Amino acid sequence: MVGTKQAKLDDIKQKIIDKDITPELAMSATQIVFGDGNPDAEVVFVGEAPGKNEDLQGIPFVGAAGNFLNEMLATIGLTRKDIYITNIVKYRPPNNRDPLPEEKKAFLPFLESQLDVIQPKLVVTLGRHSMNCFLPDLQISECHGKPMRLNGRVYLPLFHPAAALYNGGLRQTLLDDFARIPLTLKKIN
Ligand code: URA
Repeated sequence: MVGTKQAKLDDIKQKIIDKDITPELAMSATQIVFGDGNPDAEVVFVGEAPGKNEDLQGIPFVGAAGNFLNEMLATIGLTRKDIYITNIVKYRPPNNRDPLPEEKKAFLPFLESQLDVIQPKLVVTLGRHSMNCFLPDLQISECHGKPMRLNGRVYLPLFHPAAALYNGGLRQTLLDDFARIPLTLKKIN
């Protein structure tokens, strides 16, 4: 089963390359950063877009924000092997600028396909860009840490770990919100 899911994920990745999605980003990036982790995961994390380290390694969340994310996963007894992680936008935007609305729109069908293959119990969105892809018009300051069911999926919006690196006050909020992941999974199960 893992092999089948992985093969389907590999197909989606190849489609992004073959269809030349966001050709300008593809040209300026080192490589595609498609996703990483366990295709059978109960929890999928969705970030914004790759940064410099991710672009170089081809793996999401391997820089400073990724290290903090790994620390937070450990607080709830999980490792990167237990989860699947990806971004909305699969190529690094130049100079780490915010992804453009049309870039997010271009990648959304592929992100939806990834989730359809993995069928996670819970989708944890990291930051407002990721949250607003699935839950438009919501304010992260108001809905972070609150699980939401929509169209057959359960979402848990969280602040982006990079935001906590620049704003110490957010660190504890993010850790508290992270603690809701096991509780939310228990409720879903
Ligand atoms: N920030 C993101 O949103 N994604 C990454 O992969 C790394 C940093």
